[in-house]
Amino acid sequence: MQKYIPLNIVKEAALREGFCDCGAARIEKLDLTAFKGWIAMGYNASMSYLENYMDKRENPALLYENSKTIFCFLMSYNDEPVDKNHRYKIALYAQRRDYHHVIKQKLNNIISLLQSHFPDLQAKAFVDTAPVKERDWAVKCGLGWKGKNSLLVTQNFGNKVFIGEILCNYTTDYAQEVKSHCGNCNKCLTSCPNGAILPNGNINANLCISYQTIENKEDIPENINLQNYIYGCDICLNACIWNNKAKPAEIQDSDVRNLVCSMLDKIENGGDFKEEFQKLRKLSPMDRIKYTKLLSNIRHVESKN
Ligand code: SF4
Ligand code: SF4
Repeated sequence: MQKYIPLNIVKEAALREGFCDCGAARIEKLDLTAFKGWIAMGYNASMSYLENYMDKRENPALLYENSKTIFCFLMSYNDEPVDKNHRYKIALYAQRRDYHHVIKQKLNNIISLLQSHFPDLQAKAFVDTAPVKERDWAVKCGLGWKGKNSLLVTQNFGNKVFIGEILCNYTTDYAQEVKSHCGNCNKCLTSCPNGAILPNGNINANLCISYQTIENKEDIPENINLQNYIYGCDICLNACIWNNKAKPAEIQDSDVRNLVCSMLDKIENGGDFKEEFQKLRKLSPMDRIKYTKLLSNIRHVESKN
């Protein structure tokens, strides 16, 4: 018997879990020529882990045996930022609970629900930690297009979206890819304070604030302007015209948002913010850096003011 699940059943389950959209693509090998060229140019900076598992990046079926389909799920985080009246800035995605845990749990809920109707459905959830080329697959799933700053852009939800995936042994209704709606817009390119966005829409991580404030374990080079960001960067995301039409995120995280606010207040007033930061490391995606790195990011911002 053919193992087939209608996409609308998966989509219904996804919406119930708080995702804003979902689509599916047949698993096939990706063309990694551009990605390999990007690495060959050294644009991945010190993120050498991106050079590993190239076979799995090319073919996600190697990550989960017998998988035929990849479902991509989008969750909007298009909240009002809590730092808009603060001097120091933190990327919006970090102003909420760690998406790795939140989304993984929701994807596993979806798998359990689907398996209650389709007992021989085998599926595995992924969120950002495995070598899955999420943006590329989201494009193949018809959820949006690759913007000129390399991020996924969607017509209904802008670009502030998390992406999660389920690999599964069933076939489904596959999507048509959406054509780019960037047109002549260059707002993300011109907004970047360090010229990190390359003409082909890729990012030179060496010049990117997000890389410098999170991934770079060495001193931030003098020529990098952090524009008051001490964790991540939203400048090119905020510039995108498709956010003007985006629906606001449905799920709010007031506990994490309050902690971010309180930490930024203390940083600005010269108070001790270590306790807030350690709590944020447990709750939010800010566990990517240590306290000493945050201090060094703050020092770098201050050196430019
Ligand atoms: S995240 Fe910031 S620094 Fe990085 S490319 Fe976008 S605007 Fe430039
Ligand atoms: S800012 Fe303009 S060019 Fe950049 S991703 Fe958005 S629509 Fe495309």
